[in-house]
Amino acid sequence: LAAIGAAPLALTLSACGQDSADGSGSDSEGGTIGVALPTRASERWLTDGKSVVEDLRDKGYKSKLVYGEDNPATQVSQIASLIKQGVDALIIAAIDNRSLNGVLKQAAAADIPVISYDRLILDSKNVDYYVSFDNEQVGRLQARYIIDELGLEDGKGPFNIELFAGSADDNNTKYFFDGSMHLLQPYLDNKQLVVRSGQTALKEVTTLRWDGPTAQRRMDAVLSKSYGTAKVDAVLSPYDGISIGVLNSLKSHGYGSGSTALPVVTGQDAELASVKSIIAGQQSQTVYKDLRQLASVAASMVDDILNGQTPKVNNRRAYDNGAKAVPAYLLQPESVDKSNYDLILVAGGYYTAAELK
Ligand code: BGC
Repeated sequence: LAAIGAAPLALTLSACGQDSADGSGSDSEGGTIGVALPTRASERWLTDGKSVVEDLRDKGYKSKLVYGEDNPATQVSQIASLIKQGVDALIIAAIDNRSLNGVLKQAAAADIPVISYDRLILDSKNVDYYVSFDNEQVGRLQARYIIDELGLEDGKGPFNIELFAGSADDNNTKYFFDGSMHLLQPYLDNKQLVVRSGQTALKEVTTLRWDGPTAQRRMDAVLSKSYGTAKVDAVLSPYDGISIGVLNSLKSHGYGSGSTALPVVTGQDAELASVKSIIAGQQSQTVYKDLRQLASVAASMVDDILNGQTPKVNNRRAYDNGAKAVPAYLLQPESVDKSNYDLILVAGGYYTAAELK
């Protein structure tokens, strides 16, 4: 990871040239796959990059891995350059899900198949497969955690909650938020949950590029304007980086010291800093998505396509991206907190116990 993090924008990892275990990689030797990911600023995407490159290498492919530094225009030109370099397939996690139609026309013209990785690319018919997690389930797991922790099903409340969502240009944002709100809305309606800021519509609570400091500033503004002596009991946060920003704001307003407990704060991605925060009793929960599985499905899809086979999909419905129905493979996320991180993350081999110290 460190090596990738310190590397220049585009780096080429050479193939080991070996066949995949089932032998299906043999006729694709020398193939090169372009992998375009959003940013190195969040640990999860480093893990994705590393895992995808390793899985492709195991199947006999070289990779060209690029990170768009959360700039949609940069990503478009990186993909254009990968196409010019003659990659055999593209695996893309878009920064702005609507910005790739033009460049994917170039991919189609060059006969380059495209896997939409984690985030569904919208408005382009040149997307062959989509591999992701059940993203509404991610939102449901976050909401379920809040409901259980506050005892809402036992009629407890009222409690104050604030809502945060991800970047508006990321198609996953609305799945996460809708999944959460589907479960939380009844408690907002019956006033067991109260949003003192009044900001409940998706467009009022998005966080451009999932930026933690942006979320921190919004939380600061909400606490100063809408709270006075009242206290926040829960914060719906869709992503660990946002959770860390929210927690920084809460701590600077006196939460987590003296008699003012930190609220329930959710998250996503099981990033190292957040898992440590959970262990320290600050962030409450995160949603773990095994990125090794995501990478492995993406690599298999590419391998199948390049070998003239039909990749396996597991989702009943294809995802309508506005231009076509994209066949989808969805993986299952898991809720992680203090009670089960050891079992899921350490016993599952995602982190070593030493890394979490
Ligand atoms: C991913 C999340 C991630 C977020 C910010 C989303 O599209 O599904 O795992 O937390 O982007 O990087």
